[in-house]
Amino acid sequence: MKIRIKHFLFTFLITILLTHTAAVAQQKKAVAGATNVTAIKQMAYADSSRLVDIYKDLHQNPELGFMEVRTSAIIAKELQSLGYEVITGIAKTGVVGILKNGDGPIVMYRADMDCNSVKEITGLPYASTKTMKKDDGTEVPVMHACGHDAHVTWLLGVAKIMVASKNQWKGTLVFLGQPAEEPLTGAKAMVNDKMYDKGVPVPDFLFGLHTTPIAVGSVKNGTGERAAGSDQLDVTFYGIGGHGSSPELTKDPIVMASNAIQQYQTIISRGIAAQDAAVLTVGAIHAGGDNNVIPASAVVKLNLRWFNDKIRNTLLDGIKRINEGIAVANGLPKESYPTILMKGSVYPQVNDSALAYKVNKALSSVMAADKIIVNTPPIMGSEDFNHLVLGNNKTICDYVWVGTANPEDVAKANQEGKKAPYYNHNGNYKVDLSAIPLGTVIGVTALLELFKK
Ligand SMILES: [Zn+2]
Ligand SMILES: [Zn+2]
Repeated sequence: MKIRIKHFLFTFLITILLTHTAAVAQQKKAVAGATNVTAIKQMAYADSSRLVDIYKDLHQNPELGFMEVRTSAIIAKELQSLGYEVITGIAKTGVVGILKNGDGPIVMYRADMDCNSVKEITGLPYASTKTMKKDDGTEVPVMHACGHDAHVTWLLGVAKIMVASKNQWKGTLVFLGQPAEEPLTGAKAMVNDKMYDKGVPVPDFLFGLHTTPIAVGSVKNGTGERAAGSDQLDVTFYGIGGHGSSPELTKDPIVMASNAIQQYQTIISRGIAAQDAAVLTVGAIHAGGDNNVIPASAVVKLNLRWFNDKIRNTLLDGIKRINEGIAVANGLPKESYPTILMKGSVYPQVNDSALAYKVNKALSSVMAADKIIVNTPPIMGSEDFNHLVLGNNKTICDYVWVGTANPEDVAKANQEGKKAPYYNHNGNYKVDLSAIPLGTVIGVTALLELFKK
């Protein structure tokens, strides 16, 4: 009898204990889901002053494409100290940090590191006053006028929290600091430098964030084509130089170039259907030096934007035809026909619909649904983001535009009838410091979602 009672009591106690343990576990799970975002926010905001210091330091020390020696060393050092396996020197300054954390998807997070040759006029206490020597030897003022300093800062903030929340995800995390996004050549250069043979795993998902001058607290993450394809090319017109007083003895390449620039614009206005988007911009003309000398050559620097090969070919064929037509009209021999130097080219950037939807759903725990903007048309700007994974069928991509403008600046601009207070690549472009921790929260929230099966 005594044994029976003991047995009964024992069973009773065990049942209570098990029920209690199960209830606590269930409760913990529910709380974990609900507090996940809270915990991420806490970690990001606790790290905010360190991250803002990093951001200000990067902002004061901008570096042009393939010259991001200092920036890339900062990323390498930080990732190394967090326990990432770091590979440096990919395409000169490219850097990768890898963290293997069990079985699961391979997720790559990319931040571009380069700045612009733009003079900063923000008047901020941490404004850039730096100059740099370009490849052609010219000394130019430099500035982070596209927010890539924020991209690098977000990467470092996200990398730290992903280590701290290792128990919440399984898989392989790859952080990538990319050189030279602005000339659209850095991503290709990293692939051509065989990063995937040097230990960088081919990702299942490629993810990244870019600053945009909408108010802090909003993101743009639409599906499908998000940014245009682009080509950068130089056309050189060859003539016969001579005295400015005797044009009849010369073949004037400046007149040829001027004619060409006018005619190029008719390729789009007369040759491409109004429903199709395309841009042809001449960004620079280099010719001559003296008032009274007709030079022997003139260089015209062009930039094209398009969304498909048909339009791209119409633009390129049109440029070639116009060049040759001008050569014929000027009586030039075939060997003096204008030449075309193709310098850089990217395909349109496309967001995978299912992936963007998944990320947006996760972000709805960070911000109100109406702050997640999905129905914007693609921009005519370009990105070489997807060239990191171009040609492998495995990877799908999502590239999110994060609002980094001061909300009061945005409201004031709107009142004045302007869309935004400042734009990327302008000397007055600003990233509000409140976007630094928030961007970090957005990055971590998206990554944790991507690791979920
Ligand atoms: Zn840019
Ligand atoms: Zn950019």
